[in-house]
Amino acid sequence: MDIMQASLSTLYAIGVGTLTMAVIMTVWEQRFHPARSRALRFWAAGYAILLIGILILIARDSMPRVLGYGVANLFIVTGYALVAAGSLPFAGWFMPRRLALAAIPAAPLWLTVGPLLPTPIWHAISGLFIASICVIVAIAFLRPRLPISGRADRLVAIVFAMHAAVYLLRVPLVPLVSWLGNQPALDLLALSTMFEGVLFSMAAPMALLSLAREESRAQLQRVSETDFLTGLDNRRAFFGKAETVRGARAQLVLFDLDHFKSINDRYGHDAGDEVLRIFARAVRGQLGPKDLIARLGGEEFAALMPDATSEEALARLEAVARRLRLDVRSQTALQQDVTFSAGLLTVTGSTSMTAALSGADRLLYRAKANGRNRVERPHPLFDALGDRLRAQPEAISETAANRPGKAVA
Ligand code: GH3
Ligand code: MG
Ligand code: MG
Repeated sequence: MDIMQASLSTLYAIGVGTLTMAVIMTVWEQRFHPARSRALRFWAAGYAILLIGILILIARDSMPRVLGYGVANLFIVTGYALVAAGSLPFAGWFMPRRLALAAIPAAPLWLTVGPLLPTPIWHAISGLFIASICVIVAIAFLRPRLPISGRADRLVAIVFAMHAAVYLLRVPLVPLVSWLGNQPALDLLALSTMFEGVLFSMAAPMALLSLAREESRAQLQRVSETDFLTGLDNRRAFFGKAETVRGARAQLVLFDLDHFKSINDRYGHDAGDEVLRIFARAVRGQLGPKDLIARLGGEEFAALMPDATSEEALARLEAVARRLRLDVRSQTALQQDVTFSAGLLTVTGSTSMTAALSGADRLLYRAKANGRNRVERPHPLFDALGDRLRAQPEAISETAANRPGKAVA
């Protein structure tokens, strides 16, 4: 056995090893990505079928040509197709079922017509199939996709594009070099494509698994930032997004449902939950698409409206109050209207969100003290007075009723 043959055999052996590892790794990871277990099954099956194809190729010299080349290439192309079928849905593409059905008559055709062709041509055709599959995967992952488009997308695109390029180069080269009868060049070509094949058999499973991991991570992130009951952002998300959303100037609202404990007491906790959901929908429906809305906890909510004036924000809150009243009447068995109190203030780029929220909380407290079902905004004159009065706590209750406020319903 010459050095070329020995090197080629070693590469085949490594390929068997990497593909076996790919199958094991992918089956192992399946449990961590229940939503993508179908994709991971496709990948694992694809690697296993590629592995069988490689094993047949290794033993091809002791086999009839139809088996050694024909069946081996059939397995290999099928393996690539399965890997692609598992991958494309991550990019929002789905392999048409008809294409899979077309493979059923294509296989016997391949095995009957193929042997009539010279081996290099027969090889080149399967190479063309493999290159096309890889080009499709690369294109699918190059397109920007929403809602999550991460680094793994680009990695998959690069790995498959490079593999496609090698195969596309091989398609004209192998028949050409065979025709020239240059055996050393042919050996070198076989060696270099097998070398790249081994690299691909390591890079592709890793890139594809990172696709699944990235998706799971994004999913976990979404769950960790979403309030389970209402589907709104939670406190963590609110603080995380507030800095980027607010811009130079925004309206901050802190809401609290009025006498909510008594709703729970009278109608039960489930009815209370339903009211919270109705309130969340009312806010979502009446505020703008750019506005940030979150459930901070219990029956306390916050909203941040960039590009809104205080008057516009107030108008939206009045719309929320109306919507809430109508929806509670039409969608629940409650014998009473549900109202909320709110503190509304303007935040500028320099105020910290914590400081802004405690300011809104003071206004909310004032709205409660002033009879609930109202929105309170800062009043420069009275707030200055309030600050002085806070230094003399006994005086607060006397003036609370006289502070400015606006009833919302
Ligand atoms: P106020 O007008 O002063 O705000 O009175 P309130 O009764 O709304 O306020 P309080 O803070 O006394 O009660 C809040 C209640 O909200 C108590 C708690 O049981 C209830 N609550 C908090 N989270 C949930 C929830 O997820 N579901 C339900 N149904 N109730 C909740
Ligand atoms: Mg309350
Ligand atoms: Mg409360």
